[in-house]
Amino acid sequence: MINVTKSFLPDKEEYIGYINQIWDSVHLTNNGPLLQRLEEELRRFTGIDNLYFCSNGTVVLEIALKALNITGEVITTPFSYCATSNVIIWNNCVPVFVDIDPDTFNINADLIEAAITPETRAILATHVYGNPCDVEKIEAIARRHNLKVIYDGAHGFGVTYKGRSLLSYGDISTCSLHATKIFHSVEGGLISTSHPELNHSLQLLRAFGHKGDEEYFYAGINGKNSEFHAAMGLCNLPHVPEIIRYRRQVFSWYDNNLDWEHLKKPLLAGQMEYNYAYYPVVLPSEDVLHQVQQGLQAIGVGCRRYFHPSLNTLSFMPRHYSCPVSENIASRVVALPLFVGLEEQVVVRISSAINGIIRAAIL
Ligand SMILES: *Cc1c(COP(=O)(O)O)cnc(C)c1O
Repeated sequence: MINVTKSFLPDKEEYIGYINQIWDSVHLTNNGPLLQRLEEELRRFTGIDNLYFCSNGTVVLEIALKALNITGEVITTPFSYCATSNVIIWNNCVPVFVDIDPDTFNINADLIEAAITPETRAILATHVYGNPCDVEKIEAIARRHNLKVIYDGAHGFGVTYKGRSLLSYGDISTCSLHATKIFHSVEGGLISTSHPELNHSLQLLRAFGHKGDEEYFYAGINGKNSEFHAAMGLCNLPHVPEIIRYRRQVFSWYDNNLDWEHLKKPLLAGQMEYNYAYYPVVLPSEDVLHQVQQGLQAIGVGCRRYFHPSLNTLSFMPRHYSCPVSENIASRVVALPLFVGLEEQVVVRISSAINGIIRAAIL
């Protein structure tokens, strides 16, 4: 079975070398030496000084909302993974969904201002598939209305936009280093900020909000990560350029073999170095999507409805919003297999299966 993704694994002996170090030091977690080293290497890699390695890509979103004292309404995108809106509810705020741009699938910045009310405090937007949001327009709106901007950059590791890491945009940006992501530490997350004065609270909030046994500052949470996870990050980080290179190649194989007459894919931003995080295609209809799922299953290939459903349609959302573009794209989009080691002949086989299903369905 070929799945939509396959986690990158480093050389086992290299990882075991780190495990031996952990055994010798008996320092398993709590800001250990490997974590500190990984944070230093990540700061060098991204060019972001104010960056912290945490336990996952969800807890960092919660920490972001807390660090910026966000209450009330948060404008967000319906086209993301459920973690993005879940954290808003988890922090007792109200998600206000603004529809997406039909070309990029990112939040439609032109619709944001109409959704602002006296209760609005922040914009939480996702760089969907690692493709940058309209960060300039969003920043201008936030300035005008005194709002904070948080980016869910879960897909954005390794992307640069206008010469800077994508994770350097917004008041706070987060990233996921989950095993399914382009660069991973099994489980892991990053939080970074453009405000050095937030460093203290970010560090405290991820570690229960206290320092030592005497100083208690906030009702923090446990968002720390372990030495075992840091070790995986240290092993994988040097491979990121080669991971991105391989993925770019897979991209071009799909680009060249899929029949684009009845397919669509997101429009990527200019002035960007992309990480080729996902290969989504929008099929002609949800009915064709079901046929493609079945057809690929029959040749031993998995795909993933990503993202589906449109988050504004989830039953537990406190308010109902209609987001026709997001609902339409979510009903028809599927992410195709993309990982290091995926062979060209398999991409050709997947592509011709999809082309054939669409041709039969359209006739
Ligand atoms: C993966 C993902 C998350 C959650 O990250 P975890 O590390 O799994 O907690 C959040 N937002 C988006 C857009 C994601 O893709």
